[in-house]
Formats: sequence, C-alpha cells, structure tokens
Amino acid sequence: LQKQVIQSEKLSAIGKLGAGLAHEIRNPLTSIIGLTQLLKENNEQNKYLEIITDELERMKSLVNQFVLLGKPTKLHKTNSNIPRLISDTVELMNSNAQLNDIEIDFISDIPDLYIFVDESQIKQVLINFIKNAFEAMPDGGRLIINLEVNHEKKELAISISDEGKGMTEKEIESLGTPFFTTKESGLGMGLPICFDIIKAHNGTIDVESEKGVGTTIYLILPFHNIPERKRKNG
Ligand code: ADP
Ligand code: MG
Repeated sequence: LQKQVIQSEKLSAIGKLGAGLAHEIRNPLTSIIGLTQLLKENNEQNKYLEIITDELERMKSLVNQFVLLGKPTKLHKTNSNIPRLISDTVELMNSNAQLNDIEIDFISDIPDLYIFVDESQIKQVLINFIKNAFEAMPDGGRLIINLEVNHEKKELAISISDEGKGMTEKEIESLGTPFFTTKESGLGMGLPICFDIIKAHNGTIDVESEKGVGTTIYLILPFHNIPERKRKNG
C-alpha cells in the first residue's frame, strides 16, 4: 500500500515556466482555429479538417489551463458549510454516476461545519477527484466520501475512496506533475489545478493507492479558528 503526501512545489516551478509560453501560443492558436472552422464550412466532406479542429480545441484547453496555473490562485473565501458543499457536489455528479453504474456514498456524522474556503474552487477540486474515481472504475463500483474533523490538529479531512484501477508507486510519484496522464484522451491537468487550489488554502493532499485494488484521496484543510457549528434552532 502506497501512501504519499503530494508536494505542489514541482507544479509552481513548471507551471510558471510554461505559463508564459502558453500565453504566447494562445493567440496564434485562436486564429488557426478560426481559419480551420472557415475551411470546414467550405469543405464539409473533408474528414481531416474535423480531426484538425478537434486536436486544436484540445490544445486550446491545455493552453488555457496552463495559463491559469502560472497565476497565483486568488481565493474568494466565505464561511462555508462543508458537509453541505460535499452533498451538493455529490448531487451534481449523481446522474453521471448512475450512467456509469457507480454508487456514491457520502458518510458523515457531522451535520453542519462552517469554515472559510473558496466554495467554487473546493467544489472544482471535489469534482476533479470524483471524475478521476469514475474513470478508474469503468465497470462501475462504489465511491465512498467521508468527512472527519480533528479538533486537536485543527483540520478536517475529506476522503474519496474508489475501488478502481489503483496506481503503481511510480504513478503516485508522478501525481501533480502537469500533463501526467495514463488515459488515452486525458489532459493531466486536473490534479495540478487541484494541488494549486489546496495549497492556496494551506491544505494538503494525501494519496493511498494499490494497483488493482483502489485509491483513496485525502483532502486536508486547516481551520485556524475552532470551526463554528451552526444549528437550525439557534
Ligand atoms: P487526467 O484525469 O486527465 O488523466 P489528472 O490530473 O486528473 O489527469 O490525473 C492524472 C493521472 O493520475 C490519471 O491519468 C491517473 O493515472 C492518475 N489518477 C488520478 N486519480 C486516480 C484514481 N482515483 N485512480 C487511479 N488513478 C488515478
Ligand atoms: Mg482527471
């Protein structure tokens, strides 16, 4: 069983270096995409143009995400109810889960837990992890999400467990490196963005994975103040 805390330092180095270049590539890429679309309109039977457009669009989304990586992550923190945020995200992913024969179980005995985070960015992180778990279970399976609070350490841990493909030691070591992907049409940009967001929240990401058995991703977020617990009746 492999366990590793992922460092996002490698991301900031590579990310900053590439972002400048990515920015320069974006403008010519945009005009090439426009011209290809014009060609396609006048030349509908040409199958190659279809492929060229698809590949250019793929490049564009890579470049766009790389440009984002080079920028410091700006957070808009609000007092957020974490269990609620997780269940909203699960609801969002549920129809997709059913299509893939996947059951999502969110287990938490914490009714309300408010901490300051950037809600939309944390949601994006959760969606990325859940999508990766889906993709690791092409024949379906169970995805378990758990929320725990450690009052002594003043941190909360969200874990996302799948019973999918799992990872080798080498694959775990590569996590967080931009463009690392083992998928045929993967971009390898999901996790680098997640690490960036979690780092900006002073959090960490841990991974436990075993090839052929499954993966658990731990998302650990600190709260500097004792989390405020709000109850419905006062
Ligand atoms: P992508 O999903 O486009 O490949 P990511 O950055 O999201 O890019 O993930 C990078 C790689 O990490 C994946 O290609 C996969 O090899 C590995 N990975 C991430 N999450 C999981 C998981 N839950 N199970 C197995 N492998 C995973
Ligand atoms: Mg992904």
